Amino acid sequence: MSDSFDLVVIGGGPGGYAAALYAASAGLQVALVEKDALGGTCLNRGCIPAKAFLETAAVKRHVDHSADFGIGSGEATVDFAVTQARKQKIVAGLVGGIAAMCKGRKVEVFNGVGSLGADRTVTVAMNDGGSATITGEHVILASGSVPRLIPNFERGGPIMTSDEVLDLDHVPARVAVIGGGAIGCEFASTFADLGSQVTILEGLPKILPGLDADVANVVVRSFKKKRIDIRTGVMVNGHTPNDSGGTTVHFGDGESVEVDAVVVSVGRRPFADQLGLEGTGVQVSERGFVVVDELCRTGEPNVYAIGDLIDTPQLAHVGYAEAILVVKHLLGEGPMPVMYDRVPWAIYCHPEVAWAGPGEDACKEAGIDVVVGKHPYKFNSRAQIVGETEGMVKVVARKNPDGSAGQVLGVHMVGPWVTEQLSGGYLAVNWEATVDEVAEFIQPHPSLSELFGETMLSLTGRDFNG
Ligand SMILES: Cc1cc2nc3c(=O)[nH]c(=O)nc-3n(C[C@H](O)[C@H](O)[C@H](O)COP(=O)(O)OP(=O)(O)OC[C@H]3O[C@@H](n4cnc5c(N)ncnc54)[C@H](O)[C@@H]3O)c2cc1C
Repeated sequence: MSDSFDLVVIGGGPGGYAAALYAASAGLQVALVEKDALGGTCLNRGCIPAKAFLETAAVKRHVDHSADFGIGSGEATVDFAVTQARKQKIVAGLVGGIAAMCKGRKVEVFNGVGSLGADRTVTVAMNDGGSATITGEHVILASGSVPRLIPNFERGGPIMTSDEVLDLDHVPARVAVIGGGAIGCEFASTFADLGSQVTILEGLPKILPGLDADVANVVVRSFKKKRIDIRTGVMVNGHTPNDSGGTTVHFGDGESVEVDAVVVSVGRRPFADQLGLEGTGVQVSERGFVVVDELCRTGEPNVYAIGDLIDTPQLAHVGYAEAILVVKHLLGEGPMPVMYDRVPWAIYCHPEVAWAGPGEDACKEAGIDVVVGKHPYKFNSRAQIVGETEGMVKVVARKNPDGSAGQVLGVHMVGPWVTEQLSGGYLAVNWEATVDEVAEFIQPHPSLSELFGETMLSLTGRDFNG
């Protein structure tokens, strides 16, 4: 193995492996240091396994409603051990794919814990007991994040973070989800659709804070139909385990709920714990994030940090974007910084949520005059055909001086397959297109994406489906 590289990357999650593979495709000699499995949180303990579970939940929903389509199927049963094995096969395939791509692009993978010292020297405590010392002309820190914990809820038994939930081989009958953010709502939705009695305990006044209010209301209504008990404005205090492996969670003012599993989903903290950093100018903030500028440069020359390790949206695709930005920058290509206020967001609960750009309230709070267009899926032909009519498309446009709708600022969607439909809205927001420009584009018929086109069309002041 070589010991000096154009680029050394510490951390093989979406940020790190994207940086390594993209740099290798640009002809750089790259080392990638990963202490665990390639793919990081996203592939092994995050996006991919969580969505695999959600898909099982979707199949159960379809079977439950098959009689509506004239298909008799009897009562659906869930064999979650099969779900777990299927998910693991998907994960293993994707992780193997990254390893194969690294091999194909001659990225040298070091299996061990990497720590950065002076002069861009990375010492790797190899998992096999040895050690390696390598240097990089450039170094990218991409060591990601880990679940946050809360006092009195140590992992073990019924108390789980996303890491442990994704290893379950059965569906708990009663689940408390602490935290009503994106990840918490995805787990709540999964388990409710699979037949669990789910309670969400959220300290803030509403779940999914930060979402456009109209969109969040659709999710809340739908969750209530699934009999998810949403308790907002309540703090959890502790729990009392019972003899049957479950526990009673105490919250609010003397309230409690007895459950078989607790999912602690209160966010993730950056994981700089094993990066060393002695003798370097890399700074770590009080909240644990590595401090970077808009080009992801740390305080140490030629050392960058990306992904969940820095204080930017904790999304795999943001890690990818930062990886590309950094590689372009170190190649001297003068890239534009990532525009974090316009990245695509997606929540894969049922109904799905997807958006780019600010919502109506956020625009108003920023003092921007807006015109808003909203159209519900219930009148969309494809939505009726697939039997998923909940939800809406909402477009927030800057108000022109004459009162008409101008530049598209935000596109907010909730409903069937919206995570797959956002790309047109994302493009409109980031292209800084106007409503008139986007309304020129033709959508296929019948399709769910027609609703996006119709919402744009109605914002021009004329339409035929409003
Ligand atoms: C349940 C769940 C669902 C999610 N769903 C989505 C989703 O739908 N869409 C989305 O965009 N995002 C989602 N996320 C977030 C997404 O997983 C993260 O934003 C993403 O994984 C961050 O990538 P990263 O490369 O920065 O860090 P990570 O993926 O955390 O990878 C960091 C890697 O670095 C390694 N490492 C750490 N320290 C060292 C060291 N010193 N030496 C060597 N290796 C080290 C770790 O082992 C790890 O493999 C989800 C997260 C969770 C938990």
